[in-house]
Amino acid sequence: MAEKAIGLDYAVSAAEPLLDVISLHKQFPVYSPFGKIFGAKAFVHAVSDVSFQLYEGETYGLVGESGSGKSTIGRTILGLTPASSGQVLYKKQDLAAMRKGDLRKFRKDIQMVFQDPFSSLNPRKRIGAILEEALIIHNQGNQVERQEAVFRILQTVGLQAEHYFRFPHEFSGGQRQRLGLARALIMNPKIIVCDEPVSALDVSIQSQILNLLKQLQRDLKLTLLFITHDISVVRYISDRIGIMYLGKIVEEAATDQLFSNPVHPYTKSLFSAVPGFSGKKLKERIILKGEIPSPLSPPSGCVFHTRCPYATERCKTEVPGLTNIASNHKAACHLIST
Ligand code: SF4
Repeated sequence: MAEKAIGLDYAVSAAEPLLDVISLHKQFPVYSPFGKIFGAKAFVHAVSDVSFQLYEGETYGLVGESGSGKSTIGRTILGLTPASSGQVLYKKQDLAAMRKGDLRKFRKDIQMVFQDPFSSLNPRKRIGAILEEALIIHNQGNQVERQEAVFRILQTVGLQAEHYFRFPHEFSGGQRQRLGLARALIMNPKIIVCDEPVSALDVSIQSQILNLLKQLQRDLKLTLLFITHDISVVRYISDRIGIMYLGKIVEEAATDQLFSNPVHPYTKSLFSAVPGFSGKKLKERIILKGEIPSPLSPPSGCVFHTRCPYATERCKTEVPGLTNIASNHKAACHLIST
């Protein structure tokens, strides 16, 4: 990618990842109509054994259909929902074992941008007050310094000083997403988790926000975890990409590598569905049939076997592990590991 904020080589050669997600599992209990008294009657397996690393200055894209577990990963990393098992290490420190002070620092260092920032903006408060809120919670500066910080951040995201005095409903969709970015940036974070930040926007506004994100990443040396279902968007913004299916990462590669040589049948099917996609190595197009299975009872063996045109008996019983194919390229498929 010509416009990488900080080059991939820098990112992957860094000695230690900034964030290390290790064998993360997240299950949500489903209770009977009589409530919790009889215990969970089933579990939604949202995330199953997911591991990946986020290196300083890179953008890691997580892409998959809705229900693949990508947003749950983002929320679990931020501590908005507890993990069922596994570890999240920030600068080698386990979040689950962090002391209160370190956890407070972590919460300041990692921020989230949501798909719909409007729903999280208090409609009765002016933007200035909303943006100052986080600074007050974290005891940052006095009133004058906080106000100056808000004016600065409004300018950084391409808004004007006059917007300080406006209410959320007075902003357009694109401006609201700039406010979402401003709210994340005001804490001077190291990492931003972007959960479908441009999905609700018109295409022309999408590119404005994506370009702004790239520019901010370059200027502020940010590390981004970018969650989306949109292949074109993830290709444009990411240095590396993890492809998710039913709670698992099935393929991970540097962006150029993935698009020039996708190997997992699910990745090929995703790319096949993109109009005009001209990956040179995408010799066969795979059009998927049926729906993604329910995460209440994911298929045994390879979770993709119920839809995979190459599935064998082995695929029904044996879980394929993520295997190295090349430098910066892994995939979980028995066709590759044999
Ligand atoms: Fe298809 Fe089997 Fe590979 Fe899974 S392991 S993607 S079912 S060939």
